[in-house]
Amino acid sequence: MKEGIHPNYYQATVTCNCGNTFTVGSTKKDLHVEICSKCHPFYTGQQKSTQARGRIEAFNKKYGMGKSEN
Ligand SMILES: [Zn+2]
Repeated sequence: MKEGIHPNYYQATVTCNCGNTFTVGSTKKDLHVEICSKCHPFYTGQQKSTQARGRIEAFNKKYGMGKSEN
């Protein structure tokens, strides 16, 4: 592979542990993540532990988002 002025820039396919895939601009072709916006407890509301829930609730209180059911 020749080195160019700019690194190669791909629309990387990101695969999450939950099975969700999405694309993101990256210098790598393929990425793997353990958590994404689809399965992150902050978005799904399904917390893995009470400790995490406590942190999220504190966050929601701080930023006034505690009433959102989304
Ligand atoms: Zn996911």
